[in-house]
Amino acid sequence: MIFEKADVYNFFIKNLHFSFGGGFTKQLGFLIGFFIITLTVLPAVVVLRFPNIENTSIENVINAQNQQEEETTVEAFAEQEDYPTKVLVYIKHEDVVKEFDLEEYLVHVVAAEMPASFEMEALKAQAVAARTYIVNKMLSGNYPPEHKGAAVCTDYTHCKAYISLEDAKAKFGDNFDEYWSKIQEAVKATQDEIIVYNNEPILAVFHSQSHGKTENAHDVWGGYYPYLLSVDSPYDNQVSYATFTFDDFCQRIKNFNPDANIQSPADVKSPILTDAGAVKTINIGGVDFKGTQIRSIFNLKSHCFTISFNGDKVTFTVKGYGHGVGMSQNGANELAKEGKKYDEILKVYYTNVDVVKNDNKYY
Ligand SMILES: [Zn+2]
Repeated sequence: MIFEKADVYNFFIKNLHFSFGGGFTKQLGFLIGFFIITLTVLPAVVVLRFPNIENTSIENVINAQNQQEEETTVEAFAEQEDYPTKVLVYIKHEDVVKEFDLEEYLVHVVAAEMPASFEMEALKAQAVAARTYIVNKMLSGNYPPEHKGAAVCTDYTHCKAYISLEDAKAKFGDNFDEYWSKIQEAVKATQDEIIVYNNEPILAVFHSQSHGKTENAHDVWGGYYPYLLSVDSPYDNQVSYATFTFDDFCQRIKNFNPDANIQSPADVKSPILTDAGAVKTINIGGVDFKGTQIRSIFNLKSHCFTISFNGDKVTFTVKGYGHGVGMSQNGANELAKEGKKYDEILKVYYTNVDVVKNDNKYY
């Protein structure tokens, strides 16, 4: 279960839409500061600025960041009934949209995204990251059509992993009461807290386990995220292997790109690595493949791999699990064991961010 969300995110980020806000401009920031100071005689009039959120693929985030910002008032958002505390969720297997209390929904998400046996501070970090993600989605207001009007869905290959109460009881068995209340506590202890960079909710992606370092987002998806940068995650040391016959190896490569002309192991060149050490690109049979493409073609646990040939066998040695960007869940758990608090953990994996109480500012 722990490893599923890594693939979920990888799939989602590659294929679907993310919401993302533009940055503040200094001039407008000063302007608002000026108004707030000068209008103290009218304390009821508070103008908050909201970023112009575009529903966009991750590759286009830089474009979104450059788009114009606009202002709106608290009153405008308040007109939306129950908006601050509710979230619409498309329940895929029931084909219905249901309204959840946001904090209650988060319990179901955290229960699905991270093992309940993990440390409390790691679960809290997970809760804040998941909340931040959902707030991002709600801010977009421009949801994928398959959501049927909802901000998020329960399809783990698409949005957030989600587990129903019924399924959680089956999954946790005799531990249900302990685990469920533990997750509830993690969510409640961090109520309304989100991760921001430059006062905007971040794209709080995470993965199961890095390869010892997390990846720069721009090395994996393109686009630049100043808070999704490579950091050390020394506890992450999982290694896995995947072996194929040479014929199967060649066939899979050609199925993906028929232009690849591969006759022998010599046609597999040394890869170009990312800053963090995963495979950025690798030339096989005269065609450049992304490391993430090779991961997908061979269903590898990550794109941090080496390839070895032995007779008829081709073996991938793979480090880590997931796309490697943002928070490593395993690393978060290990840092929690060291005594780090959830906000400290988040600040390890997301660079130059703050963890703030939302106070309805962002939704
Ligand atoms: Zn979805």
